[in-house]
Amino acid sequence: MTSQVSLYFDHAATTPMREVARDTWMRYATQLNPGGQYRAGRQARSILDDARESIAECLGADPIEVIFTSSGTEADNIAVAGLFQASPSQRVVSSPIEHPAVLETVRALDAEVEYFPVDASGVVSDVSPASAPAAVVTCMWANNETGAIQPVEKIIAAANDNPVHIDAVQVVGHLPVNFHALGATTLAASAHKFGGPRGSGILLARRNPAPAPIIRGGGQERGIRSGTVDVASAAATAAALREAVAQVKEEARRLRNLRDYLISAVTSQIPEVLVHTQEPALPGHAHFSFPGAEGDSLIMLLDAAGIAAATGSACSNGVNRASHVLLAMGVSEHDARCALRFTLGRTTTQEDVEELVRVLPGVVAKARQAGMAI
Ligand code: PLP
Repeated sequence: MTSQVSLYFDHAATTPMREVARDTWMRYATQLNPGGQYRAGRQARSILDDARESIAECLGADPIEVIFTSSGTEADNIAVAGLFQASPSQRVVSSPIEHPAVLETVRALDAEVEYFPVDASGVVSDVSPASAPAAVVTCMWANNETGAIQPVEKIIAAANDNPVHIDAVQVVGHLPVNFHALGATTLAASAHKFGGPRGSGILLARRNPAPAPIIRGGGQERGIRSGTVDVASAAATAAALREAVAQVKEEARRLRNLRDYLISAVTSQIPEVLVHTQEPALPGHAHFSFPGAEGDSLIMLLDAAGIAAATGSACSNGVNRASHVLLAMGVSEHDARCALRFTLGRTTTQEDVEELVRVLPGVVAKARQAGMAI
């Protein structure tokens, strides 16, 4: 049984698995330990090596730089905490709009942290904090709530010899990525954001400087991520990525058209809308606030109409707290609590968006009538 909803607008949270990924996962589900020295182990190893090579080719990296992890969160943790641990410096530079996978990891370090400033459109506005010596400079490539693209090339240029980690979880499979051309030290990606399996992440890690291990064990994955690799997930991740990368330009164009139509329909049909997504942004993101309408009420009313959307804030699951991203952009606490994020993806059609545009004005009016929780 699949768990599809009728109209799905939460592709940035997770996107349905591609058929090619499902088929590949099924084909290799019974593979054994790729560390085994017998024939079955060598066979699993060879499938894993192929997946590693394919991912490296898709992302402009060397195969040895591809580290399989269990999630984007794990890749971010290993990179940020591992690079910090590998350096004598106590200084860390980050942004206030990071996903909790980076934000909380940075907070947990015993570090002197400096944050990049962020402007009203949700973009890092001054990269100079990257220049002073630091153990690690970390910034997301695109924000998961607003979709705003960050000046990662400028940050890397400003960082001189400082190691730089880029959280590219929302970008890989959606925009072209070339790890070597970018020049980052490490980069995190997550398979379930581009049609691969959930619970499968990728860390690209240059040979030097490499993150010190924060997970200890048998020394798999260059000792950076010990633990037996799931061969079926790695192969399915590689298959999904190959397909996503092949379609990246055409799909970005298609989604951008649908998204622009959604934003213009919403702003023309619903009074007092705040649009948080501004170009340059990911093509499928449309993030709004409808002042006077609580985000949670909007989600519940849409759900009753068979439409899945999110407030966008990763840490607001279950509790409608104002998003740290919107607050960092200068949005008021009240307006941040009225946020609603639609993210379009591979399965989204023009008809889906038209249906959303038909239903949304009534939903917003109803939520505004209900008013705000205290
Ligand atoms: N970083 C960003 C920017 C994300 O959007 C997410 C997931 O939403 C993550 C990290 C965490 O990825 P995962 O769900 O694979 O742990």
